[in-house]
Amino acid sequence: MTQTLPTPAQAWNRLLEGNQRFAAGESGQARTDQARRLHLREKQNPIAVVLACSDSRVPVELVFDAGLGDVFVVRTAGEILDEAVMGSVSFGVNSLNVPLVIVLGHQGCGAVGATVSALDGGTIPNDHQRALVEKVATSVLAARQEGKTSTFEYERRHAAETASQLIQRMPKLASKVAEGSVAVVAARYILESGEVEFVASHGPRLDTPEK
Ligand SMILES: [Zn+2]
Repeated sequence: MTQTLPTPAQAWNRLLEGNQRFAAGESGQARTDQARRLHLREKQNPIAVVLACSDSRVPVELVFDAGLGDVFVVRTAGEILDEAVMGSVSFGVNSLNVPLVIVLGHQGCGAVGATVSALDGGTIPNDHQRALVEKVATSVLAARQEGKTSTFEYERRHAAETASQLIQRMPKLASKVAEGSVAVVAARYILESGEVEFVASHGPRLDTPEK
């Protein structure tokens, strides 16, 4: 069953092609019709797990011109990690044998903005939103240690840090990345252009489509 799944590079390039259609205003290849629904009734074989921000401007399936059954999506504000998120990623990778995990940050992320503001002397939220700032703070601090000072750099660094954290905290995922059967990609969605920009990757090379 797993041999019908694409390689990590094929999955990444398929989603990139979908994103290029979306950015160009040429979406429409997503399979959402009744035949697709019926085909998926018994099982799913998504080609990627996507951990994205909950931001209403970053609807994952639309951004990748993906249809029913194509992507296994987990969303939290600021694409932060917790046990439920990692359990969801684990289900995708270890039970559905998905070959690709994408951590998708974005331009204008409110969680990153609130964290930068808090670190610079602004208000720290005193409700559940505090957890967002606490978790994004490690990424912003890491970026600053590397000399980065711009919002877009913080957003990129946070996606990269989150991708690294997934691998560090999920041993089965780490071994699949090491053996080359799964790639973990950090990326950032740009609101203005609609494009997903590559930030970093772990695991097999992605730049050679094997179609
Ligand atoms: Zn966001």
